[in-house]
Amino acid sequence: MKTISHWIDNQVAIVSDSEATLTVTDPATGKVTASVAVAGEGEVNAAVASAQKAFDSWSEASISARTRVMFAFRSLLDANRDELAKLITAEHGKVHADALGEVNRGIEVVEFACGIGEILKTDRSASISTGHDAYTLRQPLGVVAGITPFNFPAMVPMWMFPVAIACGNSFVLKPSEKDPSASMLIAELFEQAGLPAGVFNVIQGNADTVNLLLNHPGVDAVSFVGSTPIAQHVHKTASLAHKRVQALGGAKNHMIVLPDADMELAADAAVSAGYGSAGERCMAISVVVAVGDTGDQLIDAISQRIDALNIGPGALDAGEPAADMGPLVTGEHRDRVVSYIDSGEAAGAVLVRDGRGITVDNADCANGFWVGPTLLDHVTTDMDVYKDEIFGPVLSVVRVDSYDEAIALLRANPYGNGVALFTRDGGASRSFVKDIPVGMVGVNVAIPVPMAYHSFGGWKDSLFGDHHMHGPEGVRFYTRLKAVTETWPDPRSRGVNLGFPNAD
Ligand code: NAD
Repeated sequence: MKTISHWIDNQVAIVSDSEATLTVTDPATGKVTASVAVAGEGEVNAAVASAQKAFDSWSEASISARTRVMFAFRSLLDANRDELAKLITAEHGKVHADALGEVNRGIEVVEFACGIGEILKTDRSASISTGHDAYTLRQPLGVVAGITPFNFPAMVPMWMFPVAIACGNSFVLKPSEKDPSASMLIAELFEQAGLPAGVFNVIQGNADTVNLLLNHPGVDAVSFVGSTPIAQHVHKTASLAHKRVQALGGAKNHMIVLPDADMELAADAAVSAGYGSAGERCMAISVVVAVGDTGDQLIDAISQRIDALNIGPGALDAGEPAADMGPLVTGEHRDRVVSYIDSGEAAGAVLVRDGRGITVDNADCANGFWVGPTLLDHVTTDMDVYKDEIFGPVLSVVRVDSYDEAIALLRANPYGNGVALFTRDGGASRSFVKDIPVGMVGVNVAIPVPMAYHSFGGWKDSLFGDHHMHGPEGVRFYTRLKAVTETWPDPRSRGVNLGFPNAD
């Protein structure tokens, strides 16, 4: 069986003080495929010390030296897209095409980071006072810890470390213990690209490992992505330890369909965004808000599309044709999702399609963690299936009479990650975009994930901290601003003046 360990100082690190391990499973078969180490104090200290040492020279490395490494890393990632996608499918369960999509979106952030020379340019004002000039500098913070969720084992770490490292920081990544292999291949590729030892480290582990990092005096900043309760804990703990923190949390994304919308387009989008990656995306649509008389039509069109989906193992060679949707990540998570379907039914929602107990046509997959696409109609806001983030292939349809009622739902919702409006009405769309308290808004786009050169982040309980990830906000998070005022000896500027500095 494969053993997955840590990556410290540009090499696979042997477990020293911690004997603890966890198991990794193939979600399609339910079989244990690897054991992953759990970093204790020794490994956390070693990784942070390595990152601290590397920071001294990496932060001094020229922009062109850093950029060269980024370009080489981008080429190696490009050559290994398929390999990375296979590792993701084997441990997460998502289908190969989806895993490849995740890798591609991660590489886009590396491409953004390749332009760091342009991005780090700052302002200069000449002659702010006689003979005086002023300019600003953006300087790296030091050691950044990144803590990431299971659902994007390559892309979410790549939201963070390419920007942090291009800005001159060093990085310690703690990936999800459920699918840790992608991070190790990424670390190897970065080393092959010429990244000096210690600039990028990976430590495997669980909540205890995270807590060691959050309280470690050698860590200067923390980037976190995961569920809302843990994001709150991370934000509070790391802030109290005087670190800079951005902590992205969970979501409950609504898609509002107005009566003038293209219903076929809306149904396609609801199915793609609701069931893609088995609903295990923070930008997945989990609630369709059917406005006016659109409910019956939408339920009909969504059901037809569900019936055409092929559910099966995600690996490309697992069967023909390739599956559209794979299993859930663990047996425990599958049971949790099933319990939400039970509770929705018990609370009076109408079960239009039921994914419980689904079997897939593959003998190896009898013990996989399967739940089929599930559609609940007449869901109301007091039901748990509406209130909680389910993170599975369960789409709820809430019927409302008016646009204002739909907006009121969104305002009352504690989350604010993504939202989508489907309409042909430009006026409605314009006021929606302006008024809605959500960080990422789609107009006739169900999953409005920003490109790498924009920034990704939600509002309300979907983000704790001030900065979104990657793009300009990422650069701001990973750098500290310094304002410099200077003058050079000139006889005209001599003389004592006790007044407060003023421009003249
Ligand atoms: P999670 O919160 O359980 O785990 C995230 C990370 O935190 C993991 O590395 C895990 O080891 C660690 N962790 C878990 N429990 C901890 C604890 N008690 N103390 C300290 N650390 C702990 O999340 P998950 O189940 O891996 O991922 C799914 C969640 O992530 C969903 O809620 C999803 O919405 C969210 N997510 C959000 C975004 C976003 O951009 N807002 C993106 C992807 C995923």
